[in-house]
Amino acid sequence: MDDINIKNIISSIQQVCASDSPLPLHEPEITELEKHYLQDCLDSGWISSAGKYVDQFEQSLQQYTGAKYAIATVNGTSALHICLLLAGIRPGEEVLVPNLTFIATANAVCYASATPHFIDVSEKTLGVDPDKLSAYLTEIAEMRQNALYNKLTGRRISALVVMHSFGHPCDMEKVLSLCDQFKLKLIEDAAESLGSFYRQKHTGNFGVLAALSFNGNKIISSGGGGAILTNNKSLAQQAKHITTTAKIPNRIASEHDQLGYNYRLPNLNAALGLAQLKTLENKLSRKRLLAKKYWEAFKSHTDVTLFQEPEHCQSNYWLNLLLLNSPSLQQRDQLIKQCHQNNIYIRPAWGLMHTQAIFVKNPHMPNLNVSEKLFDSLLCLPSSPQLIQP
Ligand SMILES: *Cc1c(COP(=O)(O)O)cnc(C)c1O
Repeated sequence: MDDINIKNIISSIQQVCASDSPLPLHEPEITELEKHYLQDCLDSGWISSAGKYVDQFEQSLQQYTGAKYAIATVNGTSALHICLLLAGIRPGEEVLVPNLTFIATANAVCYASATPHFIDVSEKTLGVDPDKLSAYLTEIAEMRQNALYNKLTGRRISALVVMHSFGHPCDMEKVLSLCDQFKLKLIEDAAESLGSFYRQKHTGNFGVLAALSFNGNKIISSGGGGAILTNNKSLAQQAKHITTTAKIPNRIASEHDQLGYNYRLPNLNAALGLAQLKTLENKLSRKRLLAKKYWEAFKSHTDVTLFQEPEHCQSNYWLNLLLLNSPSLQQRDQLIKQCHQNNIYIRPAWGLMHTQAIFVKNPHMPNLNVSEKLFDSLLCLPSSPQLIQP
């Protein structure tokens, strides 16, 4: 196997980014609008769990994503937790989760007292591979009274969580027909895919419920924050209710009619999020331009390939991805080391779920070769929108 040409790769990154300062992976971009909304929020005194910015942020999220309802939450992980509870996941059930994802996807399943069951991803989308999953379920599971059961563990497999990796949508047409065939509830971890569309429909509109994240490294940030998306009115009402301690409205005494959570997004964070959302379109077009520049810079390299949005998709290109044509952990790490020495803070994929200490005993597909290959070959490139002038 030939070694990759590290010098060439670094020079292409430097050529695209054209900056002398250190190149972080993804930095939030703060304009005057953010400062204005935050100042207004501070002046109003409504900095905490109530205030107009939360409502405005939720309405803007509905408008932008096309989802009928958006409920702001304190972070993306809590949004996922509530999505799983409201989708009706019961303790002891198994939930199918991609092996290549951030830990929060799997953790949220555990918060709902269910067991994450790890499945492989597709090279085309970096998300769940519906063909491979269908063959796997046919082999290891059976339908009983209109529900799917794992023949090996005896547990019900009740849901599938898809994650739109790095902003690239999964093959939703096949995912939907698979969920229909195997009677799986579909939940979308859309934490990375605000601004990403599959066949003109915004991600997060395909499942029963979806979660967004506005953490500091995401395409827009509210400092910390998240949201639940759904097109079901009753689920939306329940989501609002249980993320705000399940307090019965309009009672003088605090009365709570079920187990609730304090997952409210503070108004201060919503003010920041709202300003960020107003500049999203502008960020998206600059990020597409950045992706194009990376594509131009890397198209003549024979040792690495720049990942491009899947068919029928419009991706937000949250993070640009470079893949080693010959996967090699050793060369991957060599490249990372030398990039860091040059102030280019590239990063590998997350540690695979089936290798995480808390999940080593969890069920998983025996063949996880694509996620394993991606782990050895994938690198996230500096992708801040600031790399392109507004
Ligand atoms: C960021 C992220 C989340 C949620 O993260 P929070 O930090 O809790 O907002 C969930 N899943 C994935 C895949 C993510 O990238």
